Amino acid sequence: MSKSLRDEAQDASTRSHSPYSKAKVGAAVLTDNGIVFKGCNVENASYGGTVCAERVAIWKAVSEGHKHMKKIYVYTKDGWPPCGMCLQVMTEFSGPDLEVTFGDEAGKETTKKLKELLTHSFTPEHLK
Ligand code: ZN
Repeated sequence: MSKSLRDEAQDASTRSHSPYSKAKVGAAVLTDNGIVFKGCNVENASYGGTVCAERVAIWKAVSEGHKHMKKIYVYTKDGWPPCGMCLQVMTEFSGPDLEVTFGDEAGKETTKKLKELLTHSFTPEHLK
């Protein structure tokens, strides 16, 4: 039996490179064709070089040829929601109905549609 998206995200969080914030974040995305990609936050001493777990997971999917996401799960100790930049990246590679779930170590989960979290996203349509 395959692991749940939450289990995959929690597993990814264990590989977090977060010596500065000490915040271990894991994300798992489910692509339209049913493949899961995982990512963890990767911090950098420059701070500006830091990348969130959600974007790592999405970029891994895209770099393997999967450009449309169906669900994403973000795991942190305290159940943090994705940041605005990650929501914008999700917009590029999903529809407004992308299911975004963020959960904490105690098992509390919040699930929202992407359009609820980023109400006025900038989309490729704006560039036409
Ligand atoms: Zn982020």
